[in-house]
Amino acid sequence: MAARCLAEHLNADTSDDAGPWLPCPQCGGPARYAGRHAKTFTTALGRLTLRRAYYHCAACAQGFCPRDRALGLADTALSPAVTRMVGTVAALGSFAEGSELLGTLAGLPVEAKQVERTAEALGREIAADEQQQVVPAAAAELTPTLYLGLDGTGVPMRKAEVAGRPGKQADGSAKTREVKLCTVWSAEARDAEGLPVRDAGSVSYSAAIESAATRDTEATGSAFAQRVEREACRRGFDRARRRAVLGDGAPWIWNLAGEYFPAAIQIVDRFHAKEHLSGVAKVLYGAPSDLGDAWAKARHAELDAGQLSQIVAALVNQYRSRRDPTKREEVRKCIGYLWTNRRRMRYPAFRAHGLCTSTAVVEAGCKVAIGTRLKRAGMHWSVRGANAIIALRCCKLSGRFEDFWERRAQRCVDS
Ligand SMILES: [Zn+2]
Repeated sequence: MAARCLAEHLNADTSDDAGPWLPCPQCGGPARYAGRHAKTFTTALGRLTLRRAYYHCAACAQGFCPRDRALGLADTALSPAVTRMVGTVAALGSFAEGSELLGTLAGLPVEAKQVERTAEALGREIAADEQQQVVPAAAAELTPTLYLGLDGTGVPMRKAEVAGRPGKQADGSAKTREVKLCTVWSAEARDAEGLPVRDAGSVSYSAAIESAATRDTEATGSAFAQRVEREACRRGFDRARRRAVLGDGAPWIWNLAGEYFPAAIQIVDRFHAKEHLSGVAKVLYGAPSDLGDAWAKARHAELDAGQLSQIVAALVNQYRSRRDPTKREEVRKCIGYLWTNRRRMRYPAFRAHGLCTSTAVVEAGCKVAIGTRLKRAGMHWSVRGANAIIALRCCKLSGRFEDFWERRAQRCVDS
């Protein structure tokens, strides 16, 4: 009923007929009035059929409806409100689930394929908007200490997307591409023991499948380095009194941190460091194993206590008592990891300075922002599709969806 009322109201208004000619939005040449054309749109009220003034440009062999532009309906059969609903459900779950949710909750018939197309187009719009919209955080909003987390995670790709790329499969091929994620948060709150805890609602996310490597010959940084710079600027990380970069041991992370935030304190996320040691225990003792668990637990305690030399001593013991070359190599690599990152693992000193060393937020970041949506059973992505959905999801998780829609509506009014 509501849809029919609205359609009747809009169809009674023929003021979008602006005379026999209008300038073509493509070429600027004359476009001729060619009557009123009907099209059915899916809106929040349901389906409605609108008859709109139609102009045709012979030079471009294309037509347009001024009213569609005014209502934000150009080149789509979904109203802005429905497009927004599609964005919300597609950020949460699969396209099929999104389609079902729209049907169940809003009574809207939007097929899975249309959810996919619409969400990906919206995600690309959000990604472009993210690159433009870099408003530095107000000085008053800055907390004394800000944290920047950097992390990477593999996302399963369609075969054609990884053809010829080197990877971790037995035959040297790749099944995944790495999504690189940047998170920024504050941790001014303290738990019962006085340890810093991540402030609720302070985490923002930005991620994409893109390169973090900058060639020396290039004047600008890598795509990912530029993403990190934008996010750091938006959050005021570059201006915070105290800055800490958290990551795992991956060299690209520390290269980027050293180059862009040389004054920041570098911390290997304690969660990652422990995972690393547990991984070594698994190789040494096989999994699952009580001996291995006990060994890992002892190393975790030493790590918390900042006793890196004791961890190395335990590893040297392992090296001497083992004959298996795989196990010896694993031990050797772990000693290298501890040596390379020793300055980034001074946990007692970091704690004494009230720094957050393991919120697991970096890891949670990858799980929350990427894993739960993009790494589900049977999902295979194209780079283009994955990046669109990642942009959409990061925008929602960072609490920026509302602002994006305001800007989008404004653009519609302006054009
Ligand atoms: Zn034209």
